[in-house]
Amino acid sequence: MKPAPLHYRRAGSIDHAVELLVAEDGDAKILAGGQSLVPLLSMRLAQPTALVDLGGLPELSYIRDTGDSVEIGAMTRTREVETSPLIGQAIPLLPAALRYSGHVTIRNRGTLGGSAAHADPAGEVPSVLRALDAQFVVAGPRGQRTVAAADWFHGFLLSAVEPDELLVAIQVPKQQPGTGVAVEEFARRHGDFALVAVFGALRLDPAGLIAEARLTVAGAGSVPIRADAAEQMLTGQTPGAELIHAAASAVAEATEPGDDIHAPAEYRRTLSQVLARRCLDRILPSIERSAAA
Ligand SMILES: Cc1cc2nc3c(=O)[nH]c(=O)nc-3n(C[C@H](O)[C@H](O)[C@H](O)COP(=O)(O)OP(=O)(O)OC[C@H]3O[C@@H](n4cnc5c(N)ncnc54)[C@H](O)[C@@H]3O)c2cc1C
Repeated sequence: MKPAPLHYRRAGSIDHAVELLVAEDGDAKILAGGQSLVPLLSMRLAQPTALVDLGGLPELSYIRDTGDSVEIGAMTRTREVETSPLIGQAIPLLPAALRYSGHVTIRNRGTLGGSAAHADPAGEVPSVLRALDAQFVVAGPRGQRTVAAADWFHGFLLSAVEPDELLVAIQVPKQQPGTGVAVEEFARRHGDFALVAVFGALRLDPAGLIAEARLTVAGAGSVPIRADAAEQMLTGQTPGAELIHAAASAVAEATEPGDDIHAPAEYRRTLSQVLARRCLDRILPSIERSAAA
């Protein structure tokens, strides 16, 4: 199929993009890398009156060290984020997750902002940004506002950005030195969307107790799932097999999967538990070794 008729508009600045969105009365769609939007247009699952293309805005493509955080422009290509030495050193969970996001060709075109705004609960970007407590900077006719990751994901393919707004940047707090990270994903083929993926980060204190735990799950609900109870269960404890087993069960309990054509809910819940255990099992030896060194 071909897209329904629409107008193509190319924004010349952030303010111009907002003007174009306002002029279309909420019926326009922003075009970033087009990796999700173009298939949706072609299948006529999206029928906007206009596309507002951000492709001519180099000011939205950057990776900037801002001290305790790294700010990433919304139009920064996913592959650029994945291969950034600054991000690799300061936020290792982010590139670890992006390696699973589609194929390199898709990551060469797709943008971090596009994935964050698209808010696919099976996508890696939403879940990893939820795990890292990212902040989303949005511009619109009412000025700029910043939204915390906990308030960003409203439902299936639904984020906090309003139809007359655009996401301009994502601020990602740096991870503490010595934090161990792992991603465990199950997909039918490499590059496919995850059936389930678990994103984890752990840090030990000098006494060997878990000082910080972060765990999120993709593909197990209408939004990325933050496993708060599992994180609390781990924090302040001495790592061990029983604790990991209990935390992995708590991760599965936090999920809210539904039945769909790809898998029944119970399968996804069980997978969440298995992948959470594997994720924690992978992280712990690496941080215990670095703490002992
Ligand atoms: C074959 C294939 C496999 C894929 N596999 C995966 C996968 O395994 N995991 C995964 O997570 N993704 C996967 N994707 C999706 C891909 O990663 C996303 O499409 C892409 O990252 C979305 O970013 P984009 O820049 O292409 O956004 P677009 O497709 O241009 O836009 C997506 C949506 O976000 C909105 N939007 C974009 N930018 C902004 C902005 N700045 N402000 C407000 N709204 C905005 C658009 O209006 C649109 O609704 C796959 C895609 C393909 C084609």
